[in-house]
Amino acid sequence: MQQHPVEVVLARGREKSLVKRHPWVYESAVRSVNGTPRPGELVRVVAHDSRFLAWAAWSPKSAIRARCWSFDKEDQINEAWFRARIREAVEARAPLRPRTSALRLVFGEADRLPGLIVDQYGEYLVCEILSAGIEANREMIARILLEETGCRGVFERSDSAVREREGLPRRTGLLLGDEPPKEIEATEDGVRYGVDVRIGHKTGFYVDQRDSRLAAQNLAREFRRTHGRGLRALNCFCYTGGFSLALAAGGAESVVSVDSSGEALALARENAARNGFPEEKLSWVEADVFEFLRKERNAGKTYDLVILDPPKFASTHYHVERAARAYKDISLNGLKLLSPGGHLFTFSCSGAVDAELFQKIVAGAVIDSGVNAWLVGRMGAGADHPLLMTYPEGEYLKGLDILVRP
Ligand code: SAH
Repeated sequence: MQQHPVEVVLARGREKSLVKRHPWVYESAVRSVNGTPRPGELVRVVAHDSRFLAWAAWSPKSAIRARCWSFDKEDQINEAWFRARIREAVEARAPLRPRTSALRLVFGEADRLPGLIVDQYGEYLVCEILSAGIEANREMIARILLEETGCRGVFERSDSAVREREGLPRRTGLLLGDEPPKEIEATEDGVRYGVDVRIGHKTGFYVDQRDSRLAAQNLAREFRRTHGRGLRALNCFCYTGGFSLALAAGGAESVVSVDSSGEALALARENAARNGFPEEKLSWVEADVFEFLRKERNAGKTYDLVILDPPKFASTHYHVERAARAYKDISLNGLKLLSPGGHLFTFSCSGAVDAELFQKIVAGAVIDSGVNAWLVGRMGAGADHPLLMTYPEGEYLKGLDILVRP
């Protein structure tokens, strides 16, 4: 396939982002295409003066018309090349393995495999394919994944709406190897979680919050040491109990967990039982967090830690303003529930709300709440979500640890 790839010629001046090794070619940057490449086919991207820029995969239906595999003219984009990328990705995650059996093995653009997400849960892999280039090579990639990891099966969860923008149908099912069990048990920093890879959010679990869950666990442990009693926490948007169980493992006195999904809460309860945590320490509330926070305030409740880990409020730049109001509203009400010396862990996973803006939003909540507050820690996705420095769009999750004192 490498011999005579179709040439994609960019308009004058539109080579700049590729020269900086940003991996996307927008539709508007393309001047001409010397042929009719199939979806996902390898193309050679050149500048208006025929200068080589990149090898890329063609996406005829997407506004991102091509995604670059490599900026090296000498590279051959073949099976050995894919194997080398996957092997690198697997090796890069090795240091995390003593801590967890749930991790992100391939993080798309950051691992130079644009549009491929692969998470590992124990002996199974779950992948999401978001680009025509990966789609065209999916069987080969699945085979390499199993060979390089020794895992038993690859399950596909290509069911997000983003697929449609790429002209790809949604697809869920076994891709290669053994069918994963109904529930896979993963262990993270000493806590056991059941993961349903078929219907769970994302690929089943929020592996990206691992370091923040450990921060919560450590805070609970430290609190008991310094206060002589356990931490009383409120975990909002708890999903299957990620932060709640980490807090219980750290010795928290009580954790109230809130989510609007009864299904998620049922799994969270099972996860608590799986770890043998005493039932009376953990309470699970099915409610809307916005309303629940107001109710707690009116009832005069206080907590030593409030966690706010909502879903993505801004899916695009158009929704940033509305999202900002929502982040501010919950952060403000969260701050008002804190006891003196209490912490607020507040997160945003909206890529469209950058770290600077998010900090401003939370500062606005601090001002309106009238409390004295300090930023004592920044949180984000773990080392299995590396940020490719030439692709800043890869940064999406940010969290602030805010300390409140009289
Ligand atoms: N903190 C979790 C991930 C949170 S995902 C972890 O570490 O695993 C976001 C969760 O918010 C989902 O479970 C969803 O059901 C819930 N949710 C969304 N909108 C909500 C609302 N208005 N009130 C309560 N829960 C909500």
